[in-house]
Amino acid sequence: MRDIGVLPDSVRVHGVLHDSRVNGPGRRAVVHLQGCTLGCPGCFNPETHDAHGGRVVGVAALADELLSRAPEGVTVSGGEPFQQLEGLTALLTRLRPRVESLLVFSGYSLEELQALPGAGLALELLDVVVAGRYVVGERRPGAFAASANQRIHCLTDKHSPEAFGAGGVEISILPDGRIVMTGFPDAALRRAVRSLGEGGATS
Ligand code: SF4
Repeated sequence: MRDIGVLPDSVRVHGVLHDSRVNGPGRRAVVHLQGCTLGCPGCFNPETHDAHGGRVVGVAALADELLSRAPEGVTVSGGEPFQQLEGLTALLTRLRPRVESLLVFSGYSLEELQALPGAGLALELLDVVVAGRYVVGERRPGAFAASANQRIHCLTDKHSPEAFGAGGVEISILPDGRIVMTGFPDAALRRAVRSLGEGGATS
């Protein structure tokens, strides 16, 4: 691996989930990074937009937390992960030797990411990027990518596009009593779960 110089040692995190089966192939740990300026109308995750929200977490500790249940893969979602590019790269660098599969959900298209200065290493470290803005008019209920314009790019041969056929919804009750929903629920389900006090993010 090439010399990456000094990278930041922390990222701003919205939340972490373990043992998810709706955020990529296999049993995965999921981290939602905090902060997004892309402003897609109808975004499922408005609580992840504030770049000053969430909590700041060291990437070494975060990598250990994500790998603590020996997942088959790690998924990074948002917010917009590439708006914390250096921290994202530092996190992926720590995870890459220790986990089989790395996937990122991004609101940028792959072409935008390839043109983003400094994003090359993060892309080299990934197996999959699900890329593109969420477009509410192109919503695809039950699909892995939430809207039809979004693209699933398999950047290595670890996964095939067929592995991403159907999406799903998970509702978790955390040890502290918070209810977290992830995946792509319809509006009625989101309202119902939020009325119970959902405290996390979807992807
Ligand atoms: S859908 Fe994703 S990229 Fe779009 S505003 Fe929401 S968090 Fe940002």
